[in-house]
Amino acid sequence: MSAMAMEYNAINLSQGFPNFKSDPVLIDLVSKAMKDGHNQYAPMAGDVYLRETICNKMHQLYNTTYSPDTDIVITAGATQAIFTAIAATISIGDEVIIFTPAYDCYGPTIQLFGGKVIEMQLASPYFTPDWEAVRNVISNNTKMIIINTPHNPSGMLFSETDMLQLQQISEEHNLLVISDEVYEHIIFDGEKHQSAATFEQLAKRSFITASFGKTFHNTGWKMGYCLGPKTLMDEFKKVHQYNVFSVNHPFQKALAEYLQNENTYLGLGQFYQQKRDFFLNLIKDSKFKILPSKGTYFQLLDFSEISQKSDKAFAEILTKQHKLATIPISVFNKDALDEKIIRVCFAKTEETLIDAAKILKSL
Ligand code: PMP
Ligand code: GLN
Repeated sequence: MSAMAMEYNAINLSQGFPNFKSDPVLIDLVSKAMKDGHNQYAPMAGDVYLRETICNKMHQLYNTTYSPDTDIVITAGATQAIFTAIAATISIGDEVIIFTPAYDCYGPTIQLFGGKVIEMQLASPYFTPDWEAVRNVISNNTKMIIINTPHNPSGMLFSETDMLQLQQISEEHNLLVISDEVYEHIIFDGEKHQSAATFEQLAKRSFITASFGKTFHNTGWKMGYCLGPKTLMDEFKKVHQYNVFSVNHPFQKALAEYLQNENTYLGLGQFYQQKRDFFLNLIKDSKFKILPSKGTYFQLLDFSEISQKSDKAFAEILTKQHKLATIPISVFNKDALDEKIIRVCFAKTEETLIDAAKILKSL
């Protein structure tokens, strides 16, 4: 959709990335790290100061104990963390449960290592998981459940009850978990992020993946990390060492320094809530039905009052004729459902949101 947006000179609210700048302080820290000579390989698991800083942050936010020596690896974005966790644990015939609509890297990676994807459908408008249905699909081959909270593309949050259910089911059936928490700081309306890290038994069987790109407005830097208990991270490292060995050193130095100031990430929910509310206020009189967005920088819009076309056809017309690119949510499902819903990314300047809203209101 980003390529189509470029081709048709459309406003791009499709792919999830901010169109405003990363903090110049952080950028200066990167150039300082380079000038200071941190231009050779980082340690395999990542820069020690960054690992310590993240483990301290986890302790402060979630009261957890992750060891910087054994329980964390810095990765080239969350995508590489997710890929590596799957590569380290999934073999031919293993079944992995994912919740769809799902971020696109889970399914293909599971299949690449011979696993079978079991899709659990989350239904609009609330996209809440049905744990009874999850219990019903568990077989002797089930090896892992992947969750994503806050959830892309719906903006749904897993509740404490959801996490307790996940904990119980994964313990009962001895399952591994990947908890993709890349939007952990983008939560609205006073809600709380339920990290898998805070549930003691769940944390013992979970890889937690995170991304600096979402938090510090620099998705192009591709920096993230994976946390987990030593037993799991030992397996993770066996893949990481020969896949990439270690990731960008000066960026790690800069991120470690920048993270010392907690204001760099604690205000993020409020920052994006303002953007969400600004945008929703602009389109409140449009014919789109606004679905709930409790977190992430995505908003789902139901276009059924405007068109009965498929979401893909609608998104294509919107891009090519009306010059606004969005994402049809059926692309996040293997078996595409015919929901009349598109996803917009509101991580944009007010100017862009105003221009986009004008188009949406004109339909
Ligand atoms: N998980 C989810 C839910 C995402 O939305 C994204 C980014 N689009 C990722 C993982 C990947 O993050 P990164 O860009 O750090 O690889
Ligand atoms: N995660 C971003 C999104 O959901 C995009 C990342 C990508 O294009 N692979 O839009």
